[in-house]
Amino acid sequence: MDKKKSFARGLLFAVLSAAMTLLASYIAYILDIPNPVIVLVIFMIVLTAGLGNISGAVSAACIIFYALFFFSDDHNIISFSAENRYKCMVIILSLIAIYLLVALLKSRYDKAYASLVELNRKLKEQNHTLEDESDRDALTGIYNRRGGDRRVATCLSKNNSSFQAVFAAIDIDNFKQINDVYGHAAGDEAIQLLVTKMQEAFGGYSILIRNGGDEFQALLYGDSFEVMEKKVLSFTDETFHMNSEGQEFDFHISCGYAFYPSQADNMSDLYHKADIALYDVKMSGKHKALPYTWTSDTRRPEQLTLTVCSLSNNLPVAFMIYRADDTEEILIASETLLTICGCSSFDEFVAYTGGSFRGFVYPEDVDQVEQSIEAQIQSNKREIDEVDYRIRTRDGRIRRIRDLGRLIHDPGLGDLFYVALYDRDTTNRTRDKHV
Ligand code: GH3
Ligand code: MG
Repeated sequence: MDKKKSFARGLLFAVLSAAMTLLASYIAYILDIPNPVIVLVIFMIVLTAGLGNISGAVSAACIIFYALFFFSDDHNIISFSAENRYKCMVIILSLIAIYLLVALLKSRYDKAYASLVELNRKLKEQNHTLEDESDRDALTGIYNRRGGDRRVATCLSKNNSSFQAVFAAIDIDNFKQINDVYGHAAGDEAIQLLVTKMQEAFGGYSILIRNGGDEFQALLYGDSFEVMEKKVLSFTDETFHMNSEGQEFDFHISCGYAFYPSQADNMSDLYHKADIALYDVKMSGKHKALPYTWTSDTRRPEQLTLTVCSLSNNLPVAFMIYRADDTEEILIASETLLTICGCSSFDEFVAYTGGSFRGFVYPEDVDQVEQSIEAQIQSNKREIDEVDYRIRTRDGRIRRIRDLGRLIHDPGLGDLFYVALYDRDTTNRTRDKHV
């Protein structure tokens, strides 16, 4: 199709060139201008440069014809006087030389121009790819914050007033634990798995964003509020199962969402309200999805600064979490506990206890403590046990500890003991002072 088109165009240009050259020759002849061939050669050069080599060649042929006509006896194109034959030959040869030179320059120019056009196209393509890459998150391939903001802004601005959407802020629950227990690479795999599941659940009518770390956002559109909300709720309800190099674990997410435009009619308000709803979910037990409600805004501001870390470190008792399995692996130890044990960091604490509850308890007390905990759990429906035992601190001192433990089932980590501990020696001494 393209070949046919360019052939037709070439033919048209050639006919045009012939007509224009012949007309110019005729005018030059009628007006009897001096040196008409020079004027015609300039004309031929312009045609070659403007319309291409074929048009130039046609024009040159017409000029040769004109030269033969002009210099021949009685304009019969065949017979020439000796002087005119010589002149005519010089003119024709010069014309051919000039044409070849111009045609050569023209094709070089065309080639250079074509490669510049191609270079420009490639640069634009690369630019586009680079721009797209800088808008995407390297780990998951979905949009990063910058790319997401741009897509969401465009999506909201290009749609009409009947457009409605649900904007969800999503965060993996207890992600730090996944990193700590199974390693950063497993954490990365969990993020990738979640994104794959998100793509499956939310489909084509969504913009998915990784905001950083374990935080994500999703703009869902193209459906009724009910359908979109249902998608968000059932996705949040899922428990995701990971198998990372033989390590198996489950994890889940929390989600806060807001409706566009009924709750927020611009992007920053949407983000803000979905974040507030997510915060509510995190504060009320995680692993669920809640919509933004105006009551969320009435939260006292000082509550916002509370974190699990500051809570566990500032409780008036020491605190630890360890696995309720054969490993008895200690997952968390509060700062107060580290202080009781004479350790300055968690790593030091792990090195000194061997990282397990069994290593934490004074060796002579271990069996009796474990039996007591087991017995109390069997007989106690609240799964709370209370036991006293001794520990040896890192610098060799013996301390008496009271342990109040509770067996908890965590969907991601399995059975865990949450344990509050206090140093009976110090506490008694402090009490005695007050008395
Ligand atoms: P919460 O349930 O309250 O959300 O607790 P959390 O443990 O998930 O806490 P938070 O969301 O603050 O944890 C985010 C962690 O994500 C902190 C950081 O170490 C980790 N992180 C950030 N970026 C990456 C990453 O690219 N890969 C991995 N594996 N971890 C990351
Ligand atoms: Mg998290």
